[in-house]
Amino acid sequence: MSKPHIAAGLSVLAKSASDANGVKLAAHIACHLSHSTPLAVNLLEFDLGYPLRSLGLRSSAYGQTPAGRINLRRASNLIYRTVGRALGEPPGGFDELDHTRYIQAAKTRLGQDGPNRDGFYLAPSFWAFSSHDDRVMVRTAWDEARRLAVAGLKALCHRDSESRSSACYRRWFGDATPSRTAAVGQVLQRVYSGLQQACVSVSCMHRVTDDLTIVEKGVSAGGGTVSAKVTNAAVWGTAWHRGGFLCLGSNFFDPLLSSRLRTTIHRTARGSGLEISRGGAILHEATHLFGNTDDLELVKVPDFFADPEFEEGKKNPDAAAYGPWICARVADLAPHLAVDNADSFRLFCEDAFARVG
Ligand SMILES: [Zn+2]
Repeated sequence: MSKPHIAAGLSVLAKSASDANGVKLAAHIACHLSHSTPLAVNLLEFDLGYPLRSLGLRSSAYGQTPAGRINLRRASNLIYRTVGRALGEPPGGFDELDHTRYIQAAKTRLGQDGPNRDGFYLAPSFWAFSSHDDRVMVRTAWDEARRLAVAGLKALCHRDSESRSSACYRRWFGDATPSRTAAVGQVLQRVYSGLQQACVSVSCMHRVTDDLTIVEKGVSAGGGTVSAKVTNAAVWGTAWHRGGFLCLGSNFFDPLLSSRLRTTIHRTARGSGLEISRGGAILHEATHLFGNTDDLELVKVPDFFADPEFEEGKKNPDAAAYGPWICARVADLAPHLAVDNADSFRLFCEDAFARVG
């Protein structure tokens, strides 16, 4: 279930991209919630309800509506109950000025820096708009992505001694040279340690509602700090090198499109689909974020469109190298480009995992 009262409090804090301290404070709170137990979060959500005490509230002398006054109190209590113990207790009533002062002090003291705990956290949009199942799905997929990175690293290490590891490498990265295998290893190492340690926010682009504005990093085409209202739902995800965030779209959460870790290797026949596991989707984005990979534009691959089978993609100049059918072809034609392509890493690690577990 989404957390409407927590969401209302977060939206008071992070309503404008120009209020950087407010956006960072909301991120701090989201990080704290991500490291709390579901029971603690549910209790907090319940306590921020104020169903009875708010009855009979009127608009304030300064123009704040009753709902706005309740949300101000939610925000100051949300701060205190998560990251703001040191500020002391928030005001007890619904006085607009008291709460505004408390919130302002919190932004000044706690909103200078973003969260810096080890590991990923679910961003404010996640707490506001996603279900418990969605959150569980992301945590599971994150662990799966780590396992995929390990499987990939093992396959890379055993490439010389095991023919199946060598075949797995060649399938997605083509002929091996020392510099290319070193580059692949470096990306996978960075992905593994990034997934393990980096303080990364995970946002969701789906199920965002129109009646609530929450500003955070990442939920926009440009990756800047923008309102979570800006959505592009039918995508898998986005991430940029050193962006500090990873954003997931509705395809990730669609059980018809995504799966748990695969136990069979990919088919490379035409029309076999993208065959994406959720762990693989996180791994793909993590190679952008930590390994500086690209989504290779197919127009850059020499001879790619010479094959009549790929005529279709020619019509779309932005067509990029995703999925087993295309990435296997890229590995044959341009191994030097495959070692920089995010989905080639995803396919390599998923196959490595399916072969050795
Ligand atoms: Zn990508």
